[in-house]
Amino acid sequence: MLFVTFVVLLFSQNTRAGAKAANVYHKIETDNSEKKIALTFDDGPHPRITREIISILKEYGVTATFFVIGQNADNYPDTMKLLSESGYEIGNHTYSHKNLKKMSEDEVVEEFRRCNETLLKFGVEPNLMRPPEGFFTDDVIKVSSTMEYDIILWSIDTRDWAHTPSECIVKNVLENAKSGDIILMHDYLSGYGGTCEALRIIIPELAHRGFEFVTVSELIGENA
Ligand SMILES: [Zn+2]
Repeated sequence: MLFVTFVVLLFSQNTRAGAKAANVYHKIETDNSEKKIALTFDDGPHPRITREIISILKEYGVTATFFVIGQNADNYPDTMKLLSESGYEIGNHTYSHKNLKKMSEDEVVEEFRRCNETLLKFGVEPNLMRPPEGFFTDDVIKVSSTMEYDIILWSIDTRDWAHTPSECIVKNVLENAKSGDIILMHDYLSGYGGTCEALRIIIPELAHRGFEFVTVSELIGENA
């Protein structure tokens, strides 16, 4: 009996030590008839844009996922509080948004740990992470596995970060949107951003086509 207990303990230790490798998603495979899609917003919170996006989402009654930079959450705590209380999904987008490819494993750990710690102050316990600019390495996968994060990339890049005119953002999304897509947008932009203007066209049009807006975790959950 003691021996059996020992083997069971050993086995459970091994499963813990060898935590399941983080999944990396660009999109989620769904049945086309499901028509589920996820809007994602990176780099916030921003004191003006994040609030405007929250009010647009509320106006249309749709949900979304925000990948927050820890430093911005610390800089704009009131907006971060509003975001955390809004009930939208929040993911870890590192503390200072540096290129993870140029970092040691310890530095990568620190970037995610500090962001996680900041989000916890706002009552958020993220399950998802998105590496800045989508750059990830084996270290990023290792850290994500340990922290039990899924790595979320995207299947449609609106290029709003490059000050793309709103009509081009709209055209890109409406011509390409399919069930299971993860759409990349930003709620922190310097200078012109067509994001909010584009959302006011994209959301009602996709809803009209029968799409349901879900968080990334909801998209994964039902189709993993
Ligand atoms: Zn980013």
